[in-house]
Amino acid sequence: MTEHFTWGIVLKKELVGECDLMYSIFTWDIGKIKARATSARKILSRLAGHLEPGTFATIRIVRKNESGQFRMAEALCEHKTKSMQVINIFTLANDLIPLEQPDIKMFSFLKTLIIRGVDSKASSYATLLKLVGFDPLTAKCGICASKAIAYFSPQDIIFLCVSCQAKRNLR
Ligand SMILES: [Zn+2]
Repeated sequence: MTEHFTWGIVLKKELVGECDLMYSIFTWDIGKIKARATSARKILSRLAGHLEPGTFATIRIVRKNESGQFRMAEALCEHKTKSMQVINIFTLANDLIPLEQPDIKMFSFLKTLIIRGVDSKASSYATLLKLVGFDPLTAKCGICASKAIAYFSPQDIIFLCVSCQAKRNLR
């Protein structure tokens, strides 16, 4: 069994199985990981409040072997946002960021959002998209290839121009 201490940013929390929790966490050194917290070990009450989405925390995770599932052992909240705008950006970030690819720029971007909040919604989304490799400045509409992009569709992972987005909404 390997044990690992690191800093992590909680992107998402979901209930799995009967009463376990699965955390999606962007760590400083491993990148995005999924870590399960099992109720059987009575750990959930200790974690409660330390690992809500929008939290920057010191965490201890364990796994049986290199390719095994991470389990959450301990967490200590360092900073936490109350901003719904930040939580919404984190939800999209969770959908776009691949597993286990460390990215120090992404880490500091997410951490800065927790600590300082959102200055401009548009520029925060643009920075996130750029960090995951979708640069709004060079992007084209995913349907008609127009450069006048106005939307990003996280479901399809494409940019859209105003008229293609409008046509889509009619469907
Ligand atoms: Zn278009």
